[in-house]
Amino acid sequence: MSHNIFWFRNNLRLNDNYPLLQCIKDSTCISFVYIVNRNLKILDVEENHKNKFLIDALNQLQTNLSNLGHELYVIQGEPSVLFSSIAKQHQINKIYCEKIISPYEKDEELSITQPDVVSLWDSSLLNTEDLEFDVSNLPDTFTTFRKKVESKPITVTLSESLPLPKPADLLNIKSCKLPKYENIFRGSVDFLNHYTICENGAQSFVKDYFSDNKALEYKQTRNELMGNDFSTKFSVWLAHGLISARQIFTSLKNYEENNRANESTYWILFELLWRDYFRFLHFKYDRKLYFPFGLKNKEINETSQVNIINLEEANTGSSFINAGIRELQNSGFLSNRMRQILASFIIFEMKIDWRVGADFFQKYLIDFDIYSNQGNWIYIAGYGTDPRGGRRFNVEKQKNTYDIDNQYEMYWNENT
Ligand code: FAD
Repeated sequence: MSHNIFWFRNNLRLNDNYPLLQCIKDSTCISFVYIVNRNLKILDVEENHKNKFLIDALNQLQTNLSNLGHELYVIQGEPSVLFSSIAKQHQINKIYCEKIISPYEKDEELSITQPDVVSLWDSSLLNTEDLEFDVSNLPDTFTTFRKKVESKPITVTLSESLPLPKPADLLNIKSCKLPKYENIFRGSVDFLNHYTICENGAQSFVKDYFSDNKALEYKQTRNELMGNDFSTKFSVWLAHGLISARQIFTSLKNYEENNRANESTYWILFELLWRDYFRFLHFKYDRKLYFPFGLKNKEINETSQVNIINLEEANTGSSFINAGIRELQNSGFLSNRMRQILASFIIFEMKIDWRVGADFFQKYLIDFDIYSNQGNWIYIAGYGTDPRGGRRFNVEKQKNTYDIDNQYEMYWNENT
């Protein structure tokens, strides 16, 4: 008999989940565990969109597993301590989980001494083994990477879904009680109030996205600041693994085959390749991406505490930037364009350390994804691989291009 634990980390789904598939294959019985760590302050009842999304997703996963006769143990604490205490009381063979290679998550996994951990990479669109180069030799520019992977047709294989083995109780382990929130989603992601936050909700959302012709105009609209439809909003589902990039790619290809393919539909893939690029950069540069100087040898900003307070209080001297901060804090989302403008302002005008800026986004973004967040921040700051070195945006020019009618600035400064 092989009793294994499946540890859900950022992949809160049962389908197309490669580590789960391996766990199912190797187990006669399974216990499902989610560990509440720094990513979620369950006891913090303050309304926070990021927490609300994750808590909804966990509640729903608990329900879905319970319908299959299983329990999801949501436990608070340090993984190493929790797992060794479980291992003392039960004959656990192994822990299976998604491999996450950012420093904190890597250390979290390495700290587990018992039982043995089998962690498997699963969060990219492209399988690292299918790349024509070793991922540790990733090209240093996105364009070279993209051209290499596009030199042959991109195909993906979805993991098969197998029935779950028997459940195994973890005696003496108490699951935390998860709070329930009202529907609080606002702004560009207010559509979330109409979806169940779970893998079925993610599937329905992606189906709805491709049910009309938004994808055909994606490239023209993706830089807008406000609304449900200017970009795909796949990120909120992807960040929590409610859907995989492979599943999205499959829907995109179906749409192209059954409707039309154009530059815009291709551009959705183009952006998903950026997502992979920032993941693969972590294989190559690992912790260096988190060093103050990143990969470069140049000065970093000496952050003034007053400016950090000004940032949190949306008191920056620019009404347009204040609107961006308020949107982030009050909705948990920002368009890609506004993320770029705000990040540039924080780094180059407020002279705040880029890593403090990255933490600020981490605190609020519903779609927070360690690889994409760190990758974009280091890119804008100019401490990454990009040979052009940093991206400083002219706020006035951006405002005149993307908010000429003042709608965005007014909305977020007046409705928070
Ligand atoms: P779309 O424009 O519809 O793009 C489709 C998908 O492609 C996205 O869901 C996302 O998975 C991927 N994608 C698009 N742009 C990028 C990009 N620049 N880098 C990586 N992947 C991309 N994205 C996150 O998912 N989590 C983050 O924590 C995050 N932090 C960011 C921080 C900064 C400073 C910047 C400039 C960008 C950040 N992004 C992050 C990338 C991007 O802004 C979001 O992925 C995008 O705005 C999400 O909206 P969407 O799903 O509608 O994107």
